[in-house]
Order: sequence, then C-alpha cells, then structure tokens
Amino acid sequence: MGKVHITTFGCQMNEYDSARILDILTGLGYRAAAGREEADLLIFNTCSVRAKAQNKLYSFLGQLRDYKKTHPQVRIAVTGCLAQQEGRRMLKALPQVDLVLGPDALPDLPRLLPLVLEGRRMAEVKLEGQADLPLSGRRASLVSQVTVMRGCDNFCSYCVVPYVRGREKSRPAGAIADEVEALTAGGAREVHLLGQNVNSYRDEEGVDFPRLLTLLARIPDLLRIRFTTSHPKDLSPALMETLASEPKVMKGLHLPVQAGSDRILAAMKRGYTRTRYLDLVRRLRETVPEISLSGDIIVGFPGEKEEDFRQTMSLLDEVGYDFLFSFQYSDRPLTPAGVLPGKVSEEEKRRRLLVLQARQREISLTRHQALLGRVAEVLVEGPAKKGHGWLRGREAGGRTVNFAGPPGLRGRLIKVKLESATVNSLRAVRLTPLETIAAKDLG
Ligand code: SF4
Repeated sequence: MGKVHITTFGCQMNEYDSARILDILTGLGYRAAAGREEADLLIFNTCSVRAKAQNKLYSFLGQLRDYKKTHPQVRIAVTGCLAQQEGRRMLKALPQVDLVLGPDALPDLPRLLPLVLEGRRMAEVKLEGQADLPLSGRRASLVSQVTVMRGCDNFCSYCVVPYVRGREKSRPAGAIADEVEALTAGGAREVHLLGQNVNSYRDEEGVDFPRLLTLLARIPDLLRIRFTTSHPKDLSPALMETLASEPKVMKGLHLPVQAGSDRILAAMKRGYTRTRYLDLVRRLRETVPEISLSGDIIVGFPGEKEEDFRQTMSLLDEVGYDFLFSFQYSDRPLTPAGVLPGKVSEEEKRRRLLVLQARQREISLTRHQALLGRVAEVLVEGPAKKGHGWLRGREAGGRTVNFAGPPGLRGRLIKVKLESATVNSLRAVRLTPLETIAAKDLG
C-alpha cells in the first residue's frame, strides 16, 4: 500500500479525527509519509469555524491543481467540517479533489477509498449522530487526547459547529474508561478530554461530566486529567467541587466568554450575561483558589460599538485570564450572524484585536509573576525548545514550565520552584532530588 500525508486545520477535535483517519488507513496498509511530496494520498482535515483556516486550505488546494496534473496517481481527500459544509459543491469547484468526507462519514473510508483509487470522485457527508468513536490500534502519547462527546446544541449565532458536527452526542462512560485504561497501559500519563461542550456530557446511563472525571481518576497509572471546552452555562457547582477535590483533575479551566457587553452576548446567543459570567468566575475562584483560567474572545462581532469593546476590555481586567485566545469575527456560511447588519470594518477589527492582545499580554505576565517563589508539580513532557539540558512540562494549572534536568524525567511528576516568568511560560529550578529516581530511568 501507499503512503498518506494528513494536514490538520483547526481544533483539537480535528487533531483527534486525524489520528482516527491515520488509524483507519494504517489498518488498510498505509504508512505515514514524512512529507506531502512522498505521499500517494493527501488528506486535508479541515475547519470551517474561521475564515482564516478556510482561506489557507483553498490556497493549499489551489497549489495542488498543477501538482495533480504532473502526479495523476496522487489522490486528494478533504475531510472535516469544511467537507461537511461544502459536500458535492467542493467536488464541482475543485477538480483536483477526489474525495470529500464529513466527520461522521469517516468509518466509510475503507469502503470508499478503493473506488477513489479506481478513479471515481465522491462526496459523503451524512450526519449520523455517532458518538462512540474508539481508536483501535492507537498508540498512546504521554498526553493523549480522548473525545468524550461530539457536536453542540447551543447554536451560538456566529458558529457553524452545530450545522457541520450535528447535535451533542456523548460516548458511554464505560467505553471512555476502557480507552483511557488502554492508553495508560500504553504509556499515557495525562488525558485531555475533548468535546465542543464537555461539561454538558451525559451518557445514556445518566453519567454526567463530574462523575466521568471521578471514574477516570480511579485509573491507577493515570496522573492527570484535563478537558476542553466548557460552556459557562453548564459550569455546575458539582463540576467546581470536582475540580477542587479530585487531585488528578488539573486546576485549569477554559471558559470562553466571547464578549464583555450584554448587548453583544445576547446577539451572539451565548445564553448568559456579563454579570452571570463574572459571578461564575468569582464562585470558581472561591471553590478552587489556584485555578488557572483561559478564555476566548471574538472582536468585531456585527454591531459591536466602541462602548461594547470597552466593556470587553474591562471584563478582561475584572477576570484576569491567565491565557486568552482572541479572534477577529468573520462571517461563516449557514450562521445567523452572517446576515446581521452593522459589520465592523477589517481595519477596526484588527485594531481592536491588537489593543486586546496587548492588554492580555500584560495581564498574563502579571499573573505569571504572582506565582514566583511557589512550589509547583510539573508533569515533564520532553525537552524544552530552549535547548540541551532543559525540560518542558506543565504545572497543575496547565502553564508551561521549563527547568534544567535529564531527559529521563519525561513522564514524571517533578516538584519545582518557580523562579522567573514570561508572558507564555515560567522558568523553574528542580526540587525533586534525582536520587529518588531509579538510575535506569534517568537515561
Ligand atoms: S457552544 Fe457555541 S461556539 Fe461553542 S461549539 Fe457550540 S455553538 Fe459553537
């Protein structure tokens, strides 16, 4: 069989689906190609949440039009949310594309691929409501991702996800626990639970998200559990309590707010007000004082006036996020916001984004500096970019920490003292003595 190269756009759900695609293709005898030029099958696993990712994909596919003429044996497949959104239209518009496959149609890949290899061009974009998506021959990573639910019922007015990923579907807790146990046996020490809205997780037996976390925390060799994304309206007191009381659950929460003005939050159909969000943050910090908080903000939503933006800026100061993911609004097909009046110009969106990001850098630095002198426990993930002799890991809040140490510490929880801070990371000195670690493990 041939070699496959997968290019992944967008979120961690897509990274997970790319792992699934590779899993399916490995089962069919494919091997992963080191680069696109040595692949017989090129897969683009796409995102349609933001216009930027979509434009990047079309630019890639444009370049491949000529490549396909000189390499007619190469097959090009487009998967993911944009494939779901465009379906057959994509086949018509892009003659270089052979296969368009929506996320729920991935199990059909073994059936469709032989037909595509014979020269047929096909699109399959059903929304099946399939939630149980185990990876069979999956290799564990130290930090392994596990999808616990898919889809979303919230229909925020700017978001295409409910249309291309369908309604919420939760995997059975038992199947998730089996997958996490298998990953842990294969060397995973942290699992990152994924879903568009994980805290509305509820399986058919009635297991909710706090109970799922408690169940997974019982797996002996698993050291840490984290999760994204949480919708503020589903952040229950029970989940806050579980964050506080379960040592294996990381003390970091991604709680997207999107805007600081009630007028814009209502137009976005987010289902909460600024006051309600700030109240949740206050209660969360009372329950889990060490929590590290991250958020998402969209600037330039249709109708966003300077006063609305000022309210977003003041919310930033009131919350004090440790990290923030911020974006310029872009119209997406299928969404109600796409046809709202009061569009903000691209220059103004860019200006607001730069102002917001500059302020957030100051806040992130101040919050990191406030941690200096503290002792933290870091799960070592591998060598730091910094260079030889430096290791990189995350403390319990998910913040990146670099410190000097031997490579054999990978996969261990090491105590460090935080000594200096930048906007994006912390530097520390190791406290855990090497003598407590078996010499064979230190490499
Ligand atoms: S909660 Fe809103 S933004 Fe998030 S996936 Fe659902 S519809 Fe999209």
